[in-house]
Amino acid sequence: MQLETLLKDVKTVGLAGHQKPDGDCVGSTLAVYNYIRKYHPGIEVVLYLEPIPNIFKFLNGADEIVHDCSADRVFDLFIAMDCGDIGRLGDAAKYFETAKRTFCIDHHISNDSFADENYIFPEASSTSELVFELLDTDKITKEIAECIYLGIIHDTGVFQYSCTSAKTMNAAGILMEKGINFSKIVDDTFFEKTYEQNRIMGQALVDSVLYLDGKCIATVVTAEEMQEFQVEPKHLEGIVQQLRVTKDVEAAVFLYENGTDSFKVSLRSNGKVDVAAIAMKFGGGGHVRAAGVTMSGSSEKIVAQIVAEIESQL
Ligand code: 5GP
Ligand code: MN
Repeated sequence: MQLETLLKDVKTVGLAGHQKPDGDCVGSTLAVYNYIRKYHPGIEVVLYLEPIPNIFKFLNGADEIVHDCSADRVFDLFIAMDCGDIGRLGDAAKYFETAKRTFCIDHHISNDSFADENYIFPEASSTSELVFELLDTDKITKEIAECIYLGIIHDTGVFQYSCTSAKTMNAAGILMEKGINFSKIVDDTFFEKTYEQNRIMGQALVDSVLYLDGKCIATVVTAEEMQEFQVEPKHLEGIVQQLRVTKDVEAAVFLYENGTDSFKVSLRSNGKVDVAAIAMKFGGGGHVRAAGVTMSGSSEKIVAQIVAEIESQL
């Protein structure tokens, strides 16, 4: 399968990824956006995403992302990326619903093949790796390579998670040969943290609690703490990964307050626990080893519910 075949006889293309765009979402969608802009100047392409983190704004085309979905229009083709269900498209879902033809590129195990045509491989490291497969290698420019490489490193934790495969490394090798500054992309977008981010992570780790004889670890960041440390939800990336690498832990649970009596829950597993199944049970989704959901109630009640689910799998 090649992206090219989809673009035949198409005049307008809409693209979108999930709400609260992460590296893979931004990288995969911008890669496709830049590809169409470069090789199909006759096609009108619009990329809809919620505002993206500043660290991703160096990517080519980032300043052309459209955040406003108020206009009504019908696209010849709409491509949803890194999204397990229509709801995760947020406001852009309406363009997906009205498009003449829909396509989905994704790697979430919870994806129920909601488009007309689907390119879904849960074993793939990232949606960006799937975009790499859909493009002719010779047509991947340095700008496109930066997008795909960034997406891959974010969803693999710089090639550390088990979703990393020989295919991932081969793709990364080819992308490195496109002249990208790969170490700068890794340092500036993955490892670098602001002082405030390090401090809130420190607080979250100090506050963490072990459950199930040390097999589960959980911590909560409240809205008050985010205000105190001057951070936003998007700055909390990395905390759950740090919890996961605690010795003897099988599953890590991270909550942050995202509304009145509402918490965003991030789940990570070291293999024994299927956290996608737990997230899906409460209306979320994700992967076997990394999943998420938004839940309502007190943080104590939510942690208790999640810990009970983890216990039943151990
Ligand atoms: P994170 O914990 O980093 O926010 O997300 C981990 C994985 O779970 C990602 O692949 C993400 O797409 C998925 N995920 C996170 N939150 C939600 C959610 O509320 N709903 C669904 N369907 N998937 C989620
Ligand atoms: Mn992804």
